[in-house]
Amino acid sequence: MNLILIGPPGSGKGTQAVRLAQAMSVPAISTGDILRKAVQDGSPAGRAAKAVMDRGELISDEMMTDIVSARLDEADTRPGCVLDGFPRTVNQAVALDRLMDGRGHVVVAELVVPEAALIRRLTMRRVCRRCGINAQPESPACRCGGSLVSRADDREDVVRERLRVYECATRPLAEFYGARRMLHAIDGTLAPRLVTARIMNAIDASLGLELQPTTVCKPASASPWRA
Ligand code: ADP
Repeated sequence: MNLILIGPPGSGKGTQAVRLAQAMSVPAISTGDILRKAVQDGSPAGRAAKAVMDRGELISDEMMTDIVSARLDEADTRPGCVLDGFPRTVNQAVALDRLMDGRGHVVVAELVVPEAALIRRLTMRRVCRRCGINAQPESPACRCGGSLVSRADDREDVVRERLRVYECATRPLAEFYGARRMLHAIDGTLAPRLVTARIMNAIDASLGLELQPTTVCKPASASPWRA
């Protein structure tokens, strides 16, 4: 089972990827995390990527496809994976089709959150300088002891650019996957555990494992609300 998470920056893909990967016993693959690690390691590719990421723009489809292809070659992805941040363009989705060939079922969940909430979430977000995870609200430091900082690309002007790039480059993926009946739109404004539950239900439904109703409904004609 493979799950692709799509949704604008700040819609909760990273949080959900970790939770769902745990529930599904498969690895979560976050292209943003892979890129930030390359930046931290100071490799030439990482340095080039940093400039692009700090402007809120996208890394080339070729580079991203190579990164994901190499990650999918690793043995731990054989039972499946949760993809967070890839694909982000239709070209990447076409490349992913090839990479997913023979890897079993693929489900796509789109997290839907209004723009004002996204801007609020991202500009208020604090991450740990040392381990990179999102901080708990109100906490003064990370559990690992690292200090909390804003991500360089969470400045409001960069956030607006990321949202603009999302609209033109990534939004068309909803149609791409919707036309194949692979897409499940999920309300990303709900509490994280409810978002997780709804995605799990969508996965079950797509596997034809929809739960049987637990209550028996009376026939509609017996309803007191009907004439
Ligand atoms: P978010 O989803 O919150 O924008 P990510 O952590 O997923 O943040 O990604 C951070 C940045 O990394 C993106 O703004 C982009 O520059 C780059 N990036 C990540 N994944 C991709 C991708 N699939 N294609 C192109 N660029 C990417």
